[in-house]
Amino acid sequence: MVLGHRQTGRDVTAQRGVPVWAEGGEASPRRAALPGECSADVAIVGAGFTGLWAAYYLLKEAPALRVVVLEREHAGFGASGRNGGWCSAIFPVSLDRVRRLYSRQAAVELQRAMNETVREVGRVTRAESIDCDFAAEGFVSLARTPAQLARARATVAAADASGVQGQWEYLDGAQARAVINADGALGGVYTRHCALLHPGKLVRGLAARVEGLGGTIYENTAVTSIGKGCVRTSRGTVTAPVIVRATEAFTPQFAICRRQVVPLYSLVVATAPLPDVVRQDLRLDSRVAFNDLRNLITGRQDELNRLPLVNHASPRWEAEPLRWIAVNAGLRAAVAADLEERLTSKPSRVAALLEKLTGAH
Ligand SMILES: Cc1cc2nc3c(=O)[nH]c(=O)nc-3n(C[C@H](O)[C@H](O)[C@H](O)COP(=O)(O)OP(=O)(O)OC[C@H]3O[C@@H](n4cnc5c(N)ncnc54)[C@H](O)[C@@H]3O)c2cc1C
Repeated sequence: MVLGHRQTGRDVTAQRGVPVWAEGGEASPRRAALPGECSADVAIVGAGFTGLWAAYYLLKEAPALRVVVLEREHAGFGASGRNGGWCSAIFPVSLDRVRRLYSRQAAVELQRAMNETVREVGRVTRAESIDCDFAAEGFVSLARTPAQLARARATVAAADASGVQGQWEYLDGAQARAVINADGALGGVYTRHCALLHPGKLVRGLAARVEGLGGTIYENTAVTSIGKGCVRTSRGTVTAPVIVRATEAFTPQFAICRRQVVPLYSLVVATAPLPDVVRQDLRLDSRVAFNDLRNLITGRQDELNRLPLVNHASPRWEAEPLRWIAVNAGLRAAVAADLEERLTSKPSRVAALLEKLTGAH
């Protein structure tokens, strides 16, 4: 993924521990912490996209509401300020599974709502003058093996069969390479329902807009427990009849939520600025999001892959060893699925099993 110099104007390789999206590589100016006890109509825990969009829409709907956002670090500290910048309608659960769990109508409505959300983010950021480099040019997933090509065709067919015709378009090799000129692209799938944006600019702009609408964001305020009508923090207690917990991957840190969410890692790599000739050759001057249809990694052994940081295993969680084993088994199964596809040139049965277990497609 290229988050290159065109957006940042600086050497991304020099930023240790600071997301590339942080302004000037520095931490954003901090807001005040909660000054003590207070009451609100709505208390929101976490100032990422979930918490801030919730605050934004509440205040647009009911401007008189007293909305307080409590953030342990600073707005955008979590995944919202360090993600890949895809604003997409790609759901990690196949529509077919949604159809089986609910109904065909529910699957269609869900997909339409996600498509609409991409447009809504564009509309709101324009209307609110939040400059976040929003560009809705779609997403392409490249197939580079016959098995991946078969999955590409299946993706289009499954979406059409689920009642969302045209959600995915099949690309032959020439069409795929016309979008992203990757080596060995045999074809792929394209959806127009995806935009690229600068998540750091969006999360900072959104936080400022929430304050402009009358909301209050307290930073450096760690919520220690959430009870009925009351949020206890390191700085005092907030009473509110409505509490929104918007802590995503941090959620298991609350004792009563320990088993609700399994945080998985996801990696974003920012390259050093690419020479113009390379960008032009690969057709990276467009703002189309892209990946390929591999399941997580290649399993290739070369000098880079043998470096000690590759496949470094973090210490396991003390509380849930079984969960840890299951999660890692799933990740390895994805690697095995790629190997199976390489050997058989057919869509992997392991991947199909994984889909059943995780719901992902
Ligand atoms: C590497 C990576 C790449 C990704 N790429 C994409 C992408 O391209 N497109 C996409 O749509 N999604 C992507 N995601 C997922 C997406 O970024 C997240 O799903 C989304 O940002 C979650 O937003 P959130 O507000 O729910 O959580 P967060 O952004 O994590 O916000 C939660 C906030 O809660 C705060 N908090 C936690 N505990 C407490 C506490 N006790 N008290 C007070 N505050 C607390 C945290 O400090 C944090 O700021 C990516 C995720 C990762 C990790």
